[in-house]
Amino acid sequence: MTPPSTTRPALADLRADLAGLTIYDDAPSLRMHSRDFFWFSPVLKPDLEGKQADLIILPRDREEVARVASACARHKVPLTVRGGGTGNYGQAVPLEGGVVLNLTRLNRVVWARRGAGRFEAGANLLDIDKALWPQGQELRMHPSTRAQATIGGFVAGGAAGAGSCTWGQIDNLGAVTALQVMTVEAEPRIIELRGRDILKVMHAYGVNGIITEVEAPLAPAHDWAERIATFETLKAAAAFGQAFTECDAIAKKLVSIHDPGIAPYLRRLAPYLGQNKAFAILMVSEPQGDELDRLIAEMGGAITFARGADEARAAAFGEHRDRGAPGPLYEYTWNHTTLHALKVDPAITYLQLRFPPGRNLELLDWAEETFREDVIFHIEFQRRQGRVYHSSLPLVRFTTAERLHEIMRLAEEAGIQASNPHTWVLNNAGWKRTDAPQPEFKRLADPLGLMNPGKLLGWEADARAAAE
Ligand SMILES: Cc1cc2nc3c(=O)[nH]c(=O)nc-3n(C[C@H](O)[C@H](O)[C@H](O)COP(=O)(O)OP(=O)(O)OC[C@H]3O[C@@H](n4cnc5c(N)ncnc54)[C@H](O)[C@@H]3O)c2cc1C
Repeated sequence: MTPPSTTRPALADLRADLAGLTIYDDAPSLRMHSRDFFWFSPVLKPDLEGKQADLIILPRDREEVARVASACARHKVPLTVRGGGTGNYGQAVPLEGGVVLNLTRLNRVVWARRGAGRFEAGANLLDIDKALWPQGQELRMHPSTRAQATIGGFVAGGAAGAGSCTWGQIDNLGAVTALQVMTVEAEPRIIELRGRDILKVMHAYGVNGIITEVEAPLAPAHDWAERIATFETLKAAAAFGQAFTECDAIAKKLVSIHDPGIAPYLRRLAPYLGQNKAFAILMVSEPQGDELDRLIAEMGGAITFARGADEARAAAFGEHRDRGAPGPLYEYTWNHTTLHALKVDPAITYLQLRFPPGRNLELLDWAEETFREDVIFHIEFQRRQGRVYHSSLPLVRFTTAERLHEIMRLAEEAGIQASNPHTWVLNNAGWKRTDAPQPEFKRLADPLGLMNPGKLLGWEADARAAAE
């Protein structure tokens, strides 16, 4: 049903106000820009298929963004911001139609100095790292969707990724140092958030302001070499992952540990995964590769794939000379593991679990045993707030939504945190919630309740009351 706010006259008026901007309303564009990767979830898929925007707008600069924000406010048209569209929970799906504001043309490096940079929100993460490479710098962390995702989308919808084994999660204090946010009002305002105030819009799915610029600390760009190592069991591989992540003197970017059951889904890596072996996918500073290799041997592992930094970077930067070689190894980890599995078996889905520090290996043993029937683990090591532990995006052989909830409940009862990826509702995001006053900030930044409606519950009623 088309809500009253997206009536044809309102859209026509909005369009008239936005003469000169790039606007699409053809069927393929509307479909393409209204979807994300919600189809990873058999629970979300039937509900979100077919939800579409009425207009797609691609502003070129902040002035054009302000024109769109103002026009949406004046004509009361819903507005959903979009970056690379790689979210997994339908965060970027416009549930009530209206405008999808694609920010990918706001893609400039505003400035970069040693240790910090500021970027327009639509800048692609890989493009940022390519631009920083000549300076010997890079983003501290990126999701495995580095090639597709934007920095604004990562802040508004992501959590962690390659680099998190050293630098933690995006919501840790200091991981982002400033956000520039535009309000959706007849006269849009610019608000600069710093410190813990950043959490008001972080992981808020774009319900409370358009992020226009992101300022973040930068890391030294090491020459990252890649390794795959096999181990006899998941337990042995996980113990290695813990020990390697705890080796603070070795610079590393990725520590991803996989159950033998993952191997059949990573077809491109098949020559390196052995028969019925657990395995580790790793990125290490090339000058310290020997130390890593020694640790692998000491802990009973066997190196099956080693790629030097030049080749690894060529694979990541899309400058591959060897067309037969695998893509960057981080594209087999984090939620890319699910993507590969779905290509082999469409009945696979996934969950998001976080194991507590100190008990993470013990609880992994418990979880592997308890959920042996339908869950296959891969774990992603992180160093957060000075402690080493892991999260997991385990593959699940899907049967019912009830079973997914049962797994999450049992895990929670055992002390493992769950963040349900089978909901688009921000309030249900489990440990991914930032617990910052997001609704309060929405009253300030989106007083008419137009931004990404349906994602933050309990808000709409307040907004309507306020408007009466
Ligand atoms: C195969 C695969 C692997 C993935 N791996 C990871 C991973 O390793 N780690 C991880 O954290 N995530 C991962 N994800 C999820 C997703 O890729 C990341 O969170 C990514 O950072 C999202 O960026 P995006 O530009 O695609 O955002 P989008 O999907 O476009 O948007 C995400 C949310 O943010 C909002 N938004 C976007 N831009 C803005 C803005 N400028 N202002 C306000 N709101 C905005 C959107 O409305 C939406 O609600 C993965 C997804 C897939 C499909």
